[in-house]
Amino acid sequence: MKLDILAFGAHPDDVEISCAGTILKHVDLGHRCGVVDLTRGELGTRGSAELRMQEAERSREILRLSARESLGFADGFFAVDREHWLPVIEMIRRYRPEIVLANAVSDRHPDHSRAAQLVAESCFLSGLKKIDTGQEQWRPGAVYHYIQDRFAKPDITVDITPYFETKVKAILAFSSQFHDPESKEPETPISGKGFIDFLRGRAAEFGRPIGAELAEGFTATRNVGVKNLFDLQ
Ligand SMILES: [Zn+2]
Repeated sequence: MKLDILAFGAHPDDVEISCAGTILKHVDLGHRCGVVDLTRGELGTRGSAELRMQEAERSREILRLSARESLGFADGFFAVDREHWLPVIEMIRRYRPEIVLANAVSDRHPDHSRAAQLVAESCFLSGLKKIDTGQEQWRPGAVYHYIQDRFAKPDITVDITPYFETKVKAILAFSSQFHDPESKEPETPISGKGFIDFLRGRAAEFGRPIGAELAEGFTATRNVGVKNLFDLQ
């Protein structure tokens, strides 16, 4: 199955937190989108790997994803090496996306920057014919890094105003991780009531310069081009 956009996350919920609005918008525009979770998030303070897989499935329905996969890498311990490039390359070649979305290049959680490097390098390597995975080579046209916890100045911002509430629903599908007044689990930096307010504030900040109420931001390592100047807001 060919996808238009494939978003990778180090942990199930990274994509929801950072770029669910952009995914929802492109699904509405008729593009096929998918998510690959590199780990099952088993080191998360709250919940368990099994619970997070169920939550990821619930979010898949909310985001209307055409595919969601989990590579089962070791949370906290996966490396940027051959053992991990190859399964990522297999995913890229299986789904042949035009655009890949990946973790932030630098972030609070060290898995995020490692995932950013792993996925960006795999996109390049996937285009090399002599790396044999039994599949045809494929190099996505672009890799954009979503901005998650630590602030970064975006190179691209996408207006997600009409999609913000559905994005919040997808995030809250991970009920073990985020605010749940009934939960007896320990508080974490993302489980407080203020976390969704923080995400709304971040989206408002990204939206303001482009005249949008709420937006998501991405960085790119290469120059970004547009077909014509009217594509710019
Ligand atoms: Zn994460």
